[in-house]
Amino acid sequence: MTHRLHDFAALGLDYLIIGGGTAGLAVAARLSEDPQVQVGVVEAGPSALNHEDGGVITIPGRYGETLGSAYDWQFATVAQPGLGGRSLPWPRGRVLGGTSALNFMAWNRGHRADYDAWIVSPKEYADLYTHAKSIAQKTGRPHDELLARQFSPDSKGRGQIEYLFDLGNWSPYFTSEPGKKYATMLQMLQYPFSRGSIHIPPRNSESAETSPITVDDKPVIDPQYFLGPGEIDRKILAMAQRLTDRICQTPPLTGLVQGRVFPPSDNIRSDDETYGDFVSNYTITDWHPIGTCAMGGRDGAQTGVVDERLRVYGVRGLRVVDASIMPLQVGAHIQATVYAIAEKGAAMIQEDMLQV
Ligand SMILES: Cc1cc2nc3c(=O)[nH]c(=O)nc-3n(C[C@H](O)[C@H](O)[C@H](O)COP(=O)(O)OP(=O)(O)OC[C@H]3O[C@@H](n4cnc5c(N)ncnc54)[C@H](O)[C@@H]3O)c2cc1C
Repeated sequence: MTHRLHDFAALGLDYLIIGGGTAGLAVAARLSEDPQVQVGVVEAGPSALNHEDGGVITIPGRYGETLGSAYDWQFATVAQPGLGGRSLPWPRGRVLGGTSALNFMAWNRGHRADYDAWIVSPKEYADLYTHAKSIAQKTGRPHDELLARQFSPDSKGRGQIEYLFDLGNWSPYFTSEPGKKYATMLQMLQYPFSRGSIHIPPRNSESAETSPITVDDKPVIDPQYFLGPGEIDRKILAMAQRLTDRICQTPPLTGLVQGRVFPPSDNIRSDDETYGDFVSNYTITDWHPIGTCAMGGRDGAQTGVVDERLRVYGVRGLRVVDASIMPLQVGAHIQATVYAIAEKGAAMIQEDMLQV
């Protein structure tokens, strides 16, 4: 690993990857398999490979502890009117490995129809499956084979809400009492209609000269939760909350749950307005932002930033390969899809290299 800028700049690189995150490192690993190819990676965060932090990243059971730490960019949204004026933390990994070093390790895939909706051809979806399968074959672990099969075109199942009953208190709005055991019934919206924006902070022409934008200027993140077309998200989540209550009052959960502590049972009337208020006041993010460099498909730069080969419209030699190219959400946690994008992206880069 080269740390000194001028040594790094002197390297005759074939590819320069900005961001040694989830996708960036997968692409770098794949391209550098060819010993003739020189790949450089620029990462803003530390390597965290020496375990000086006591294994906060490498010990799976410690997931969550890195949030708000030096490994986190510590972004936050602007105040959200749709959430009662709250601003939500949007953690992102600032460390080699990127957000995969911070995440909670849930692993699954979207439905075939999710990927078809990106206006890619059935062949390209089949390619994603092939890449997932070859990852599994390389590791040789039967479990990975099982995971890869999720990408198979004939597997079924799609839903608007993911329900997850998990041990521990997931709410930042409820303080656990020491010595007591808690579980949280989570409901996660899979296909949100809310549409927002992320921008670098504005500068007027004077301050742009005296203090240019740096990597430490936090982006202005405005997801516009539950506003405009996103109003339907709030309605769906309020309906889902009603079902959540029913699930918790049905065996086997009734046998496990002694009582609800948050929201307190006597505070919640079972009417739509109350459920809607609960959703506005307590919804947090599921940490799967996408789409800031969305693939524009046939409509080109009008609707997107990159084309179907992940090339930035109008810029030669520049690609984006990460979660930001996803034009639509998939009904799944997105890390597996990010890896599939990276594998597919690396394969396309290699194909194009052969044609030069
Ligand atoms: C708290 C949390 C929990 C999650 N849990 C799950 C889960 O359980 N399952 C799941 O599937 N997904 C989960 N996700 C989502 C998933 O981890 C991310 O979507 C995915 O890792 C994003 O990968 P990426 O390659 O697009 O970006 P990243 O992995 O974030 O990579 C971007 C990299 O670029 C670097 N970088 C940024 N700016 C610069 C710069 N100017 N110069 C140099 N480097 C720069 C960053 O430091 C970072 O290393 C979670 C996310 C979070 C935040």
